Amino acid sequence: LCCLTEVRCQYCKHSLSVSNGFEIVLSHTKSCTYISRPDHNYRFVCYTCPYHTTYSQSMKSHLRKHSGEKPYKCLFCDYHCTQSGPLRRHMKIKHLMESSNSHDITYVLDQAL
Ligand SMILES: [Zn+2]
Ligand SMILES: [Zn+2]
Ligand SMILES: [Zn+2]
Repeated sequence: LCCLTEVRCQYCKHSLSVSNGFEIVLSHTKSCTYISRPDHNYRFVCYTCPYHTTYSQSMKSHLRKHSGEKPYKCLFCDYHCTQSGPLRRHMKIKHLMESSNSHDITYVLDQAL
């Protein structure tokens, strides 16, 4: 799992393909009818976070932040994210506490992050 092939709109729960770039998602952030748009600043509303903008270019570059570029990957499962903090937390909660080899995982954590 090196990159995302689809994302899910948090409002309507539809899956949006990102395999050909973010055009489908971009148009969805504009057209999704489940999103409330109180004023013109909500012309484009991010499918997964509170970000909104009136410019398609701004949304386009914003969407890249949610794209497949997630450099921090869990060494034990498919989990990945864009920051080391949540990953550390994930590995500790999901794997360190459940594991009998907690020494190994602590070591790996210190090496990897
Ligand atoms: Zn939607
Ligand atoms: Zn967003
Ligand atoms: Zn994991």
